Amino acid sequence: MIYDRNNIFARILRGEIPCKKVYEDQYALAFHDIDPKTPTHILVIPKGPFVSFADFSAQATENEIVGFIRAAGLVARQAGLDDSGYRLLANHGPDSHQEVPHFHIHICGGRPLGPLLA
Ligand code: 5GP
Repeated sequence: MIYDRNNIFARILRGEIPCKKVYEDQYALAFHDIDPKTPTHILVIPKGPFVSFADFSAQATENEIVGFIRAAGLVARQAGLDDSGYRLLANHGPDSHQEVPHFHIHICGGRPLGPLLA
């Protein structure tokens, strides 16, 4: 998997494009999705150059994986979603309709979401 260093999330990480940031640490950046599908729709991305979940799960260091997962949990908690609930979603590859080739998870919540693929 070749990483495109000019994908939109890489440019957000470099500060070339603004985002509505909600969290940042050495492993992850979280920001509001530009086209939210739920009242709360936050994207969490790792700082490293990973194309998708397949790439991240195979190539990231254990520190990067743990740091990223802990950051995602913290972001959801800080968004106030722990009690009401939320959905994590990660798209990989063409069948998933992944649009941005930098690994990211969607945190969606703020209303009942219904069945997974309805
Ligand atoms: P994917 O389909 O790759 O899993 O999801 C990509 C997500 O990135 C979409 O929900 C889309 O709205 C969001 N997105 C695309 N471009 C931008 C952008 O420039 N800024 C932000 N905040 N979100 C974006």
